Amino acid sequence: MEHLERSGYVRSDPVRHAMGSVRRELFVPTSVQRAAYADHPLEIGHHQTISAPHMVAIMVEAMRCSEGQRVLEVGGGLGYHAAVIAHVVGPTGHVFTVERIEALARRARDNLEAAGLSDRVTVVVGDGSCGWPEHAPYDRISVACAAPRLSETMVDNLSEDGMLLIPVGSPYMQELTRVTRKGNRTTVERLGGCIFVPLVGKCGQ
Ligand code: SAH
Repeated sequence: MEHLERSGYVRSDPVRHAMGSVRRELFVPTSVQRAAYADHPLEIGHHQTISAPHMVAIMVEAMRCSEGQRVLEVGGGLGYHAAVIAHVVGPTGHVFTVERIEALARRARDNLEAAGLSDRVTVVVGDGSCGWPEHAPYDRISVACAAPRLSETMVDNLSEDGMLLIPVGSPYMQELTRVTRKGNRTTVERLGGCIFVPLVGKCGQ
């Protein structure tokens, strides 16, 4: 945590508080427990990884979330990132996280329950590559896997002044991309290079 602040990844009080409140060891497999707080990605099985803490901090800061917001996460994994977002949006907000691998989604639910967050985060199983219209609109959408391009239907899931954060590029190298919607207009910003596992599915790789 100190390292995340010193390096400038954690810059705001809500994110500092959220990252400090979520016990990462509850969200990583027992096989990598000892590395739970190391600042690098960890294997979670099924050829997937949980992002390094600094990447979660960068993304949650870049999303500029506030209390009471409804957030969609695509790529729920074991639920760690969703838990951090849930702390930022607080008890009046809600996080919906979509995970395509059922076994991971089940474990994410258990982890979120153990962290006391099951009423603030809903884990759904399915393909979220084009968004998840069922609970739209969302104030924020955070994608934790790499998309080949921006999906228009995903952008349509945003509220009128919503924001989408998504790694866009090839399976090996992407650019973290922020899309800000103001009514019918959207602004696209590139925030820097990153590497995520591929977003697979209808609008995926
Ligand atoms: N945010 C997670 C880590 C995500 S790893 C955590 O904190 O633990 C990326 C995840 O995206 C993987 O679990 C992968 O199965 C999932 N994924 C890939 N394509 C997807 C899709 N189309 N819909 C939903 N999940 C997807």
